[in-house]
Amino acid sequence: MKKAEIVIIGGGVVGASVAYHLTERGAKDVLILERENEQGKGSTGKATGGVRAQFETDINIKMSLYSLDFFNNCGFDCGYEPRGYLFFATTDKQFDYLKTNVVKQRELGVQDVEVVDTETISRIVPGINCEDITGGSFGARDGFIDPLAVMDGFTAKALENGAQIEFDTQVLSIETASGRISAVETYKGRIECEKVVLCTGAWATQLAKTAGIDMPVEAMRRQIVWARSSADLPANLPMVIDIGTGFHFRPAREFGRGIKNPVATAPGTDRSKSPVALAAGTDSVREVLFAYPDPDETASLETNFDEAFIGKVYEKAKHRARFLYETEVVREKCRAGLYENTPDHHAILGGCEIEGLYFANGFSGHGVMHSPASGRALSEIILNGKASFLDVSCLSLDRFAKGELLHETAFI
Ligand SMILES: Cc1cc2nc3c(=O)[nH]c(=O)nc-3n(C[C@H](O)[C@H](O)[C@H](O)COP(=O)(O)OP(=O)(O)OC[C@H]3O[C@@H](n4cnc5c(N)ncnc54)[C@H](O)[C@@H]3O)c2cc1C
Repeated sequence: MKKAEIVIIGGGVVGASVAYHLTERGAKDVLILERENEQGKGSTGKATGGVRAQFETDINIKMSLYSLDFFNNCGFDCGYEPRGYLFFATTDKQFDYLKTNVVKQRELGVQDVEVVDTETISRIVPGINCEDITGGSFGARDGFIDPLAVMDGFTAKALENGAQIEFDTQVLSIETASGRISAVETYKGRIECEKVVLCTGAWATQLAKTAGIDMPVEAMRRQIVWARSSADLPANLPMVIDIGTGFHFRPAREFGRGIKNPVATAPGTDRSKSPVALAAGTDSVREVLFAYPDPDETASLETNFDEAFIGKVYEKAKHRARFLYETEVVREKCRAGLYENTPDHHAILGGCEIEGLYFANGFSGHGVMHSPASGRALSEIILNGKASFLDVSCLSLDRFAKGELLHETAFI
């Protein structure tokens, strides 16, 4: 009979981070089970790669601050680029909301965030239509990361520290005995274990149910259009977000392992920078991603890209900037993935009434950026009973039963 002390189900960025943080803290017998033949086929490989501290709730802001520091000093190339996040408002009420958030963000230690007027917005994004914009907020340290590089960095370190990963190993059920974890049943057989960490992203609900746990995570498709301009886009575009509609755009990047750097030999490029950063200096300034949360989507595990989304998102682009509208869709690079939404759009982190069963789920679209803080929190909870670097108790699963939901509307 196969055995492991701690089984992590799901080898996306979150499972990889949990494995990394556990093994960094001395856990020896950690096994990641991934149903696919490689990592990154879930939501992690579909993400836009944004990271920001501009949130509304204390917990999201604090998790982001921790994660931003981590990305800046992690010791592996995670593609972090502090290009900034610009939120803009189109009503006074929205602008007031952004201003209130900036005050809170600063109080909590986000030093590089500021309220901006339309003149500044036009300077940050030359060519943007500011006709209906009332103001915004800009966080200079927010920016971009490479989701697959983050996942790979965590995995490599975890494996170096002694963790193991098994592919093509779908977990079918989580087994318990006398109120505690006893094993997981996989397609390849049973694995006895003392602890299970559920990191299966949008696919968490069914597995949790096998252990008798109700997990309020709803999968919902999110689509991204990748487009190419025949002229250069404005230089140094940050992530730009309409807080009212969720419409957003950013310069496009290729992500992932083994990507060939097309400009490695181009004159004037800084070879000390990562391939991701280098790519920003050439072709990709003509390529842009745009998206918005389509209100026509309903809960499902559908991940096919729907052509009709292109027309919808271009309607929004048309209003916002010519440089967005006058582009050609790069159809083969458009993609669809899954958000893993909870009722209050905050993650579920921690244990439950079954001893040895832990969750890192329901990131509601922020799982890559919050993976460092989540992995650390979970590792401390598993090994020491609670997270001491940051109090994450407000993210426990029982908040739903207790009616202690959080409130955040700065999600996209
Ligand atoms: C279009 C889009 C844009 C996004 N943009 C951002 C962004 O800018 N910033 C950000 O922070 N987040 C973003 N997200 C959200 C982010 O991608 C997710 O929150 C994050 O990837 C979740 O990571 P995960 O490891 O929990 O899940 P996943 O990456 O989905 O990994 C779960 C893994 O579990 C495996 N698995 C599932 N079931 C089983 C089973 N039964 N047995 C074994 N293995 C199993 C899957 O194969 C998968 O590899 C975006 C998401 C989408 C779809």
